[in-house]
Amino acid sequence: MTFLLRIFLAAAALVAAGAYPAGALEISGTFIQGGLATGKVEPGTKLTLDGQPVAVAPNGSFIIGFGRKAKAKMVLRAEPPEGQLEERELAIEKRKYKIQRIDGLPQRKVSPTKPEDLARIKSDQIQIAEVRKRTTLKTFFDTGFMWPVEGRISGVYGSQRILNGKPRSPHNGVDVAAPRGTPVKTMGDGIVALVNEDMFFTGKTVMIDHGLGLTSVYIHMDKTTVKEGDFVTKGTQIGTVGATGRATGPHLHWGVSWFKTALDPALLVGPQKTGK
Ligand SMILES: [Zn+2]
Repeated sequence: MTFLLRIFLAAAALVAAGAYPAGALEISGTFIQGGLATGKVEPGTKLTLDGQPVAVAPNGSFIIGFGRKAKAKMVLRAEPPEGQLEERELAIEKRKYKIQRIDGLPQRKVSPTKPEDLARIKSDQIQIAEVRKRTTLKTFFDTGFMWPVEGRISGVYGSQRILNGKPRSPHNGVDVAAPRGTPVKTMGDGIVALVNEDMFFTGKTVMIDHGLGLTSVYIHMDKTTVKEGDFVTKGTQIGTVGATGRATGPHLHWGVSWFKTALDPALLVGPQKTGK
């Protein structure tokens, strides 16, 4: 075996394990559509993913996410303050998504036409988008993630949705069915970035900022138990399961985003402890 071939095989083995060879640029994670990777570069490095700037914390940590339709190959480019420019090609595994039909939703929540509903939807979308624009230069996500509530999975990430017979945007989170009043916990450490008691589609809504553009959202809750600006640690109760907004029964819709890119929350945590 030639020396070069040996190097190639060693690199291929690392890629299969979900890690890329360590150099100045380190990265590991789930290289699949909906997945998330974290890494380290030399502090002060200019980092881009497919040409888009990636925030780097003062200690050199960074985080990147891959969307529902992420391309098969993405390029991470690191330009350290001194030293050599590094480019890494990331191979992103493709996924197949389900089709989910939900009937029996109030027509007003599927095809809103009333001006006051449309105005609320717009205002809700702006508030949510503002949170997803934030770049808090903190790595609260370092302490890891947990299921916010355990129960029957009634909706998975990425499904194409047909609501009352009409095609609608794909499902961008995980639905966990649980009795009304079940405590909902934050999936990880972070700052409470939004608490809204009455959004049109999402009802009682809480968003947490986990740093560097990673946010989580918890919707349809019956009650919220935190306020904006609170710092919460993984497992802190933030509300209870409900059916507010566009929901047919009590469940938690749990979403995770890297800036505007919706990720698959289920990829961040292991199986549920209760084995559901
Ligand atoms: Zn949902």
